Amino acid sequence: MISKSIIPSALFLLLTLHSISANPDEKPILCRGNYHSEADAVKQLKRMAETYSNLDEWKARKQKVKEQILKGAKLFPLPKKTPLKPIIRNKREYDGYSVESAAIEAFPGYYVYGNLYRPLGKKGPHAGILCPHGHARGPRGGRLRPDQQQRCATLARMGAVVFSYDMIGYGDSEKHGWNHRHPQALTLQTWSSIRVIDFLQSLDDVDNDRIGVTGCSGGGTQTFLVTALDDRVKVSAPIVMVSAHFFGGCHCESGMPIHKTSALETNNAEIAALAAPRPLLLVSVGGDWTKNTPLVEFPYIRNVFKLYNKAQQTENAHFPNQQHGYQYLKRQAMYPFMVKHLKLDNRGVYDRQTELYDESKNALESIEQMRVFDASFPMPKHALKPGSKIDYR
Ligand SMILES: [Zn+2]
Repeated sequence: MISKSIIPSALFLLLTLHSISANPDEKPILCRGNYHSEADAVKQLKRMAETYSNLDEWKARKQKVKEQILKGAKLFPLPKKTPLKPIIRNKREYDGYSVESAAIEAFPGYYVYGNLYRPLGKKGPHAGILCPHGHARGPRGGRLRPDQQQRCATLARMGAVVFSYDMIGYGDSEKHGWNHRHPQALTLQTWSSIRVIDFLQSLDDVDNDRIGVTGCSGGGTQTFLVTALDDRVKVSAPIVMVSAHFFGGCHCESGMPIHKTSALETNNAEIAALAAPRPLLLVSVGGDWTKNTPLVEFPYIRNVFKLYNKAQQTENAHFPNQQHGYQYLKRQAMYPFMVKHLKLDNRGVYDRQTELYDESKNALESIEQMRVFDASFPMPKHALKPGSKIDYR
């Protein structure tokens, strides 16, 4: 009879052998949207937790999950890094910060467009923060949204250099003809985030050891993916996205086989846990697929942090009466986490009496101001044609 104490390691060995024998040509399994029920998500987390019982076993599993994401996203091995050729222009100065329009080439001729927010009057080097965005459309969707501008400006006023950048087919990318339904969207967006870290670290005023990332919804997906894949991220705050039963409804989140193969099953709660032991904040709400976070996803993630004896490095701010989005209250939950872990300077922004971070000095810019290329500064001639398939191998 097998002793109960050796079952976890026997199971682990079995999974390892299974992983080695997985067929690389198998048909991709996609976990899209509400791939399974809330009850099945709880069972899946239990199954996953049974595959490791100590830090070494978790690290081995972490490596497998990371490799599966990279392979599923067609980023394994990682593509060669090509010159970013950054364009930074049209500086606007406001109260305590500046904004510039900026673009980098994630692949030769493939632009990632954005805005670079920098502190004014604070001594550097500064923390660097990536701000991806979610799927909300409208005339001021994506990085042009007022809530996105508010968080970037507030973080810059507290001493961070922030890059807010378009998903493919949003903002300037949309203006220049790209469609979000591009078949390589997940690959391109994940690689773009990795290159945005390179961009921030290339700036003289950024401290390479203080890189953070925060995004909401589809931007939350980009947040936990880049955190899982790139150790240069030191602090991570995915907002209203980390769920064990919902895998993301868009092909840029769940349209490639990153979650499940015949060798290994995972979900977005576990992918978020790959941040450990680096500080991780989950903001969740009662009004979307993060409604169970305090009782389901967060305990699973905290248990991973406990393996490192770093349970205090992860927090969950839950708002049972709030809906999906990165509104004022959720930004107020994120700011202190970034201040604490990226050593930002909140003087002049944080009010001790109200315990709130003041956003009233932020300027909301117009769409035209935020554009990178315009009539006076046209797109370089070598830019790829909209919709091009990116050949990077
Ligand atoms: Zn998408």
